[in-house]
Amino acid sequence: MSSIYSSYFMKDLCPSENITASFHPHPLRLKDAHETPYYCVGCKEKGLGKCYQCEDPENCDYHLHRQCCDLSMLCESGRSSSIKFSFLESKKCDFVFQKEAPGANQRGCDACGRDVKGWSYQCKMCKIPHYLHPCCAKLPINQKGEKGIVLDLKAKTSSKCLECGSKNISQGLRGWFYASNCGKHCYHVGCVMDMVLKNLEKGGHGCDDGRYLIKETNDERKSCSCESLTRAQSGAITKRSRKVGTMKFITEATIIVLNLIISAILGIPITNACVAFYNLF
Ligand SMILES: [Zn+2]
Ligand SMILES: [Zn+2]
Ligand SMILES: [Zn+2]
Ligand SMILES: [Zn+2]
Ligand SMILES: [Zn+2]
Ligand SMILES: [Zn+2]
Repeated sequence: MSSIYSSYFMKDLCPSENITASFHPHPLRLKDAHETPYYCVGCKEKGLGKCYQCEDPENCDYHLHRQCCDLSMLCESGRSSSIKFSFLESKKCDFVFQKEAPGANQRGCDACGRDVKGWSYQCKMCKIPHYLHPCCAKLPINQKGEKGIVLDLKAKTSSKCLECGSKNISQGLRGWFYASNCGKHCYHVGCVMDMVLKNLEKGGHGCDDGRYLIKETNDERKSCSCESLTRAQSGAITKRSRKVGTMKFITEATIIVLNLIISAILGIPITNACVAFYNLF
């Protein structure tokens, strides 16, 4: 591991709480924003989870994703590096961080499908430019959870997303997925992001009055290999959901899978994802 990478990963594990950056006149402080979305001035996307906020929030509304802040500082120090993804079909794609926003009418982010309006990673190898949000470029390649559930980040799957019911996240754009090792759980990264943000906009009480229902296919309702040990428990969860009057049937494995994806997207520990988004279920 080169020193650039090791210092980056060290920062990943223990980020500095207070920093001064050349791109903002005031000191910035690392903050937890698990319940209120903020607007990242770097990538111009909504954010949740850890962010750098201006030390003087009363007078200065300045937020940056932790990832965007780290990348920007790395870029300024001249140590910015490109990213390749081994799971992409095209092995030549090589993404480089840039602060200039791509022009209008570009296609959306390869991973989540949303427009790219600010800082981004651009592939420098393909004729047709394509982009990733900084946070999407930093998605973990895999996530391991309870009950032996392992999710892999994929650009192509044979199954459809359980949330939108489609393989494409938007017209002509596939989007990246997290797919489980048991083969039953598959979600677009962008669909889970939408799920979380929509739920928060509605006050974060998706379960209580059925304002937000998680869609599941018939296949999903059948137990999968990761649930064979926990039939009793998942049965209990179903009953509780029925009792609060929703039509929802949600399995324990689905909860584990969604928590894993939420923790990957927001860059927060799995336990925090469970606590912060319990109401989603
Ligand atoms: Zn950002
Ligand atoms: Zn400020
Ligand atoms: Zn490319
Ligand atoms: Zn994205
Ligand atoms: Zn989807
Ligand atoms: Zn499963």
